Amino acid sequence: MAESLTYLITGGAGFIGSHLSDALLAAGQRVLVIDDLSTGRYANVAHHAGNPRFHFARASIRDAIVLDRLASQADVIVHLAAAVGVQLIVQQPVHTIETNVMGTEAVLKAALRYRSRVLIASTSEVYGKGSRIPFSEDDDVLLGPSSKSRWSYAASKMVDEFLALAYRDEYGLEVVPVRLFNTVGPRQTGRYGMVIPRFVGQALAGEPITVYGDGQQSRCFCAVSDVVAALIGLSTEPAAPGRVYNVGSEEETTIMALAELVRELTGSRSPIVTIPYAEAYAPGFEDMQRRVPDTSRVRALLGWQPRLSLQETLQSVIAYEQQGP
Ligand code: UDP
Repeated sequence: MAESLTYLITGGAGFIGSHLSDALLAAGQRVLVIDDLSTGRYANVAHHAGNPRFHFARASIRDAIVLDRLASQADVIVHLAAAVGVQLIVQQPVHTIETNVMGTEAVLKAALRYRSRVLIASTSEVYGKGSRIPFSEDDDVLLGPSSKSRWSYAASKMVDEFLALAYRDEYGLEVVPVRLFNTVGPRQTGRYGMVIPRFVGQALAGEPITVYGDGQQSRCFCAVSDVVAALIGLSTEPAAPGRVYNVGSEEETTIMALAELVRELTGSRSPIVTIPYAEAYAPGFEDMQRRVPDTSRVRALLGWQPRLSLQETLQSVIAYEQQGP
């Protein structure tokens, strides 16, 4: 990146946001972070304190005054602040819907005032129960009923995408909705249900590795460094705005195979146990059996591709977890 840009990262102290901050600061950009530290951690960005190109504001994105002050300085806004993780969503559906919908509305309004480009983080959850693998951006989606609260996350993120694209259509705002698939790496916490930090933590502690369901469901896990490279590319590529992009790995693994790989790489003797979904989440919980992205759109635009294998990524997570908090 030749010119120096100012980025505003909402949720910049979170898992993905803090890695994005690291990469942008390393590339010579200026980074403003707004984070209410509800699920993010100041420790994730504390190493930038004292850097004149870094500014941290502890505030909610629904704090209009703080958001406006930061947005007024930003060339690009990367909106990552959101209620995160399926477990949290099942536990706090009101918070999820309000944060995701009203937060994004506030960010788009601020971006419009200053005409900044805005990346909106969406999620592979929007593909719902779609069975045509791989998932491509313009596929139809199939969500479950509103009586099952897990779908509120997907529906709220779809509203975000609709709203972003509407700002593009009506006001010509440069919006880039990005559907992030399962992303992993150091600093991700297992507290909100994410499978890899949970399995690594369990394996290192010698506790049972808890596979939900029969473990034959599969996911594609992408290293956070690769996801961040795609986000940075999409934030500057002139032809990016106005379309939705899948970002993720296409390397598919079952959750049972993942549990076995984690046990092998940690040298753990933890047993692998299966737990029924109803016990792990809530009665009637519906999991996705497979989730694989078609990433040809982002690859064609940026020449992007994931660089780290699942094994390399797991090794970096294991090394991080071994350091302790
Ligand atoms: N999972 C599991 N054990 C755990 C946590 C999660 O087997 O301790 C499973 C979960 O049911 C899902 C997969 O791992 O099938 C990925 O879960 P995660 O919450 O990381 O992401 P999701 O793909 O559900 O958004």
